Amino acid sequence: MTSASTGITLSVVIPMYNEEEALPALAARLRPALEGTAVRYEVVAVDDGSRDKTAAVLADLRETWPELRVVRLRRNSGHQAALTAGLHRARGAYVASIDADLQDPPEKIAEMLALARRDGLDIVYGVRTDRSTDTGFKRRTAGVYYGLMRRLVGKQMPAQAGDFRLLSREAVEALKQLPDQQRVYRLLVPWLGFPSGEVHYQREERVAGETKYPLSKMIGLAVDSITGFSAAPLRIATWLGVTSFFACLGLLVFSLVAYGEGKTVPGWTSLFVGLLFIGAVQLICVGLLGEYIGRIYTAVQRRPTYFVGYDSAEGTAGDAAGDSPAMVGPRHEGERAGV
Ligand code: UDP
Ligand code: MG
Repeated sequence: MTSASTGITLSVVIPMYNEEEALPALAARLRPALEGTAVRYEVVAVDDGSRDKTAAVLADLRETWPELRVVRLRRNSGHQAALTAGLHRARGAYVASIDADLQDPPEKIAEMLALARRDGLDIVYGVRTDRSTDTGFKRRTAGVYYGLMRRLVGKQMPAQAGDFRLLSREAVEALKQLPDQQRVYRLLVPWLGFPSGEVHYQREERVAGETKYPLSKMIGLAVDSITGFSAAPLRIATWLGVTSFFACLGLLVFSLVAYGEGKTVPGWTSLFVGLLFIGAVQLICVGLLGEYIGRIYTAVQRRPTYFVGYDSAEGTAGDAAGDSPAMVGPRHEGERAGV
């Protein structure tokens, strides 16, 4: 199967933000891996508004590597938005996505493609069997995250599958049709319900540079993941309310009994603690409401999640905004519409 208009079988989307140090090593490993597949391919490097020399390194690489295509976003829009830009622009019959830091082995892409073609699969996940190269903190937070997400999305979500995967053209088109704005692909993709397979690999160490996912971005991803798939947090308010109601009833009975026995306690501390508790509960609940209302607000604004400044496949400045009406809605990492 090849894409009818371009004849490209495989697109490899690589979101990158300040990856000048990792790029030479990436190119040195990715190119032979893709050439080994013997299919027509393109590499869609999505430069997510890098501030270092990523753009210059990409331009250099392009001189000797015609299959390398550069899509530059005008500003840093976040990993998932960069992925969205890449998926929208990719032309291949199959589209793989991989990080720029060589933590996921590019050689596995050939295996994914072969598996998808052999078994007629629409999705092949790269599943990490070993995260020993990640820090203990990253492993623990990832463990909690994936456990929670499997409860939200369902068991069809493979544990420990990040953004290293292969999608068929049908799956990509299905994703493009979704109206979601703050997209978390590792949840959306399994949720689509396409026939899928897995390829296992060991997570390697970042080849160069530092992680582009500080704690703030990890929290942002977790909040997007939960609110994107569940309204359960909103029910926390109800449960807390019900619990405090019964606690108050108990307290009322207790104080009536104490009054009857003539044992009135000074009770300043308990009063104050009770007051603080109710105040805290209310603030948490208002905050939760704010989180969802913020999302409704951004959905209503219908701003694009990213702006393409340049696409080497077009040779000119790209369009002003995202690629389709389905793709509207803002998501700039760390910049969320508040209430
Ligand atoms: N990335 C991006 N935009 C961002 C942050 C990260 O495009 O705002 C890219 C980054 O360059 C890398 C991928 O997303 O290719 C995953 O990031 P990273 O490897 O830093 O995350 P980690 O592996 O530490 O979770
Ligand atoms: Mg990484």
